[in-house]
Amino acid sequence: MHCPFCQHEDTRVIDSRLTEDGAIVRRRRECPRCGERFNTFETAELKLPTVIKSGERREPFDERKLRTSFERALQKRPVASAALDAAVRAVIDDLRRSGERELPSRQIGELVMRELKKLDQVAYVRFASVYRRFEDVQAFREEIERLERDPPELGKLQLSLLSKSPGEPI
Ligand SMILES: [Zn+2]
Repeated sequence: MHCPFCQHEDTRVIDSRLTEDGAIVRRRRECPRCGERFNTFETAELKLPTVIKSGERREPFDERKLRTSFERALQKRPVASAALDAAVRAVIDDLRRSGERELPSRQIGELVMRELKKLDQVAYVRFASVYRRFEDVQAFREEIERLERDPPELGKLQLSLLSKSPGEPI
């Protein structure tokens, strides 16, 4: 890298060592032109992406908001809080792994849906109906009520939702 003192185009690494936990590499560099020495630090980039909201508005990722989305969908559902924690963690891990600096909130919503699908079908439908703004809200509400009485397999649920024609009286 360039020398930060004289902008010379090359600097020499004279020492390289790991921090105790192995998470950071510290390099001691020397500029062959001006002789200045300085350190550089190398770490894995695990920052969470900035969220792009509707209307191109951007805000920092907020774990509390993510958790609230899960909690709302899971309200009064028989899901252990440890399972909820794990789902929140899974979404955050995926966001970190993506390495993206910015992500549309819609994409985060898709990850939430994926986790809810594994956790609880009713919560999944609740979230999906709000999130995807399904046109036939009433049909969804009925579906949710039916599900709460008698939860079917997810495959059947999707089929029954698809088979409802838009003009069908509710
Ligand atoms: Zn220099």
